[in-house]
Amino acid sequence: MNVAGLRAVLFDIDGTITDGIGGPALPGAVRAVHKIAQNRPIRFVTNGTSWGRAALLDALRREGFPVDEERLVTPSRMAQRILTERDHAAGVLIAEPSVLPDLDWFTLTPPDGAKAVLLATEGHDLTIRDLGVAVEALLRGAKLYTLQQNRVFRRRGQLVTDLGPVAAFLGYAANATWENLGKPAPLLFETLASDLGCRVHELAMVGDDAEFDASGALRAGCGAGFLVKTGKYRFGDETAVSPAPSMVIDGVESLVDLFAV
Ligand SMILES: [Mg+2]
Repeated sequence: MNVAGLRAVLFDIDGTITDGIGGPALPGAVRAVHKIAQNRPIRFVTNGTSWGRAALLDALRREGFPVDEERLVTPSRMAQRILTERDHAAGVLIAEPSVLPDLDWFTLTPPDGAKAVLLATEGHDLTIRDLGVAVEALLRGAKLYTLQQNRVFRRRGQLVTDLGPVAAFLGYAANATWENLGKPAPLLFETLASDLGCRVHELAMVGDDAEFDASGALRAGCGAGFLVKTGKYRFGDETAVSPAPSMVIDGVESLVDLFAV
């Protein structure tokens, strides 16, 4: 594969460079990321919503990754930017207490004054009753946003539901559509390309999720979507998505040779 036209590399975190969000670095990942960062701008782009930015920054630094505020792209940061621009940063928030500091720009209102419902948690500790206020806001005209719409993720070895099923529940209840702010939303890649001073087709995305990292990035216009066989990857994932990943690799280490650094 010719990577000459790829001007920036976006790394998924969980399952791609670390074992679990906030977990230890995968073998070879720290060296590979450093090598690639020597000649191309990089970003760490996660759909993870259970860790706050400060804790995630600390965890990545501790493992030795070259991360800073600018390089860490979380859904909460993207939401702040987009909802503020649209004057939608007020309404009903569905979030875990641990991430509230990252969402302090969002003003809480009663359902009848809500401009938005912002979904920021997979909601495992919520009951359907807790979601009633969000449904009411949507029925009154608020717009539904979700930090991401992944279907499932792996927590302590077990597959559990992610934000996507909760967004679908709310959308179905209120007969409303929702806007995804995480991978693979075209809006996310356009914003990143603009920040990096390049075009979307000059971005390469690397991740362990065939649908949302590799295929989704290609669908959104990225120049490459690499699928790693670590993390949540299961044999044959690449055959279940269209477009197919640009390349399936054992892990991020395989990128070092490819990018010839
Ligand atoms: Mg991942």
